[in-house]
Parts: sequence; structure tokens; C-alpha cells
Amino acid sequence: MQITDVQAYVLALPEITTACDGTQDTCLIRVDTDAGITGWGEVDSCPNVVKAVVDAPLSHQICTGLRHALLGADPLAIEVCMQRMDQATNYYGRTGAGSHAQAGVNIALWDILGKACGKPVYQLLGGPYKTRFRAYCSILFGDTPQETGELAAHYRAQGFTAIKFGWGPMGKSEASDLALIRAAREGAGEEIDVLVDAGQVWDWKTALKRAQQFADFNVFWLEEPLRPDDVEGYRRLTAESPIPIAAAEAESRFDEFERLVVDGGLDWIQPDPGRCGISNFVEAGRMACRHNRRVVNHSFKSGVTLAASLHALAAVPNTEVCEFCMADSPLRHELTNEIFAIDETGYATVPDRPGLGISINEDTLRKYQQ
Ligand SMILES: [Mg+2]
Repeated sequence: MQITDVQAYVLALPEITTACDGTQDTCLIRVDTDAGITGWGEVDSCPNVVKAVVDAPLSHQICTGLRHALLGADPLAIEVCMQRMDQATNYYGRTGAGSHAQAGVNIALWDILGKACGKPVYQLLGGPYKTRFRAYCSILFGDTPQETGELAAHYRAQGFTAIKFGWGPMGKSEASDLALIRAAREGAGEEIDVLVDAGQVWDWKTALKRAQQFADFNVFWLEEPLRPDDVEGYRRLTAESPIPIAAAEAESRFDEFERLVVDGGLDWIQPDPGRCGISNFVEAGRMACRHNRRVVNHSFKSGVTLAASLHALAAVPNTEVCEFCMADSPLRHELTNEIFAIDETGYATVPDRPGLGISINEDTLRKYQQ
């Protein structure tokens, strides 16, 4: 089998706000083959930059776009394809959008392999350890404590057993931060797990103080309180925090995850398949387990990213929860023909059809394509 085309589709809602909401736009990756099998992936990055990484013509041996690098390659030889892309982007894309674009292609290649073998991706990864994961509802903080409390009550009523609030007004002041968490806990009730995504707002000392304060509200984890590459800050914070610290959604390469676990001491790593690919997700997750740490997906895009996440999680031992984005965007819930929903116990199930087990809703794609 040979790759005949690699395409990137930029999709966006008519209106984009400054809210930290990754469901306002996206970049889909499509890989076609001479066997008639098409694989799909998705990237959580700057969509137009990712498209440029895919489309860039040959500049020289270690500086070229992904399509040029992959034309004629065997899509079933996923590691060989990754090596080709790694070499092609050596000059300009070893981190950031260059890596993110490769991650989207990696997802599409696993989709092709699964379809070619007639098996779900998680089987080809050696799973499943589990096929169902307790879903936490992932949303942004309300603008006020009252709004946050109302959101908590709203999503609790939908059957979630855990709710995460992120970004928004967190970090404005000590009093405001505590009011937000108090409202979230009151809205959720005592039975529901409350997770907090701080959104990179503090230094490690302030983060430690907040972790100590948030412990009074039985917070499940404190996520990304520091800048993604503040490994020393994470080392100091995780050494003393009374609640688990989660981070690493921004990372792409295995050695970055390893550094944040071994040196940074993270309790949870949060690989996003749309930034690190399914291959690195699984490798990083297994590494975290060897260090007695946990892995959970970061997924704030469409059903493509969620499906990729569930397949990867199914192939890693010692998992527990999964991120289940509930942002109200058609790019989240209408881009795949398959509707992802939690069951009556608040769990999400990995698709069991060949490949990722999803198909693209072409109407949605055309409607929002830029
Ligand atoms: Mg986050």
C-alpha cells in the first residue's frame, strides 16, 4: 500500500472569541492510499500553521512539507512514516506546530492500519486493558462564581460523576480563586469529583498555596497551574502539594513527557493525541505507569480526537478517567457521524469498529471549511 495524498482541512466557526476554547476551530488531516483506504486525524494547534506544514513544498532534504515527505510511503509502516516526517521537519518543526501536524498524521495512519486489518486501533496497540472510562465533563469556568455553580449543577444533572472547570477568571486574586472553587463544589455537591484546570496562571509558590487551599474543597486534581516547560516549578510543587498535579497536554515528544514525570514529579500526564499522536500517547502513558503515575487524555476538539484518545487509553494500564469535552460547538459534536455520549453510569466507551471507528460528516466539513 502507498500513500497517494495528505491533506489538511482548516475548519472554523463564523465567529471566534478570545475564550480558551479549542472547539471554535480545528484542523482535520486526511491521508489517502492507493488501496482506497482513507485515514482521518485531527490536530489541536494553530490550524492554518498546521496546514502550511502539510502543504509546504520541498525546500531541501531536511526542510519540506509532510505531503511531499510521505507521498509513496507505506502507510502501514507507521514508525517509518514518523521517521520520514521527523527528517522532513528537522529544520523548522521539531516542536510546536511541526510536531502537532505529525501527530495528526499519526492518528490518520493508525486509522488506516485498523481499517486495513479490520480491527479497532486499540487491538493493534495491544489492548484493551479497559473499554470504558469514567468521563469527566470538561468545560470552562463561568465568568462569575454564581455562573460556575450553575454550570456544575447543570452538568451533574446530566449524569457526570466528575466535572472539570478550566481557565476563564482563575488567577485574578486569592479571594476570587477561592470563591470560584467554593461555588463549583457547592453546585456539584459532595458526591461529584471536582477538577480544576488553572490555565498556567501562577508561579510554583502561589500554586502550592492554592493547592493547600483547594484541598479543603476535596479537589480531584489541580491541572496546569504553571507554564508547560517550568519543570523545576513542577518539581517543587509536586513535592509538597496535598492534591495531585496534572499537566503535559502541551507536549509532543516522548522525552518531554518523561522529563515532566521523572524530573517534574507530575501525578498525572495528559497527552493530547492531536499534539503527540497515538504512538507517543501510548508510549508516554506506559512510561507514566512504570513510575506509578497516571495518564489521562487531553481532548478538547471533535469526535476524531476523542476516539483517538479512547483507543490510546484502552492500550495503557492503570487508567481511570477520561476527558469528555462538553463545549457547545458543532465542531465538537457534529464533525463525526458517530455521536459520543456518556452512558447512564457516566462512562464513555471506546469505538469497536475498524480503525478509529469514526466517519467524517462531510456536510459539517463543507459548512465550516475555510
Ligand atoms: Mg488543560
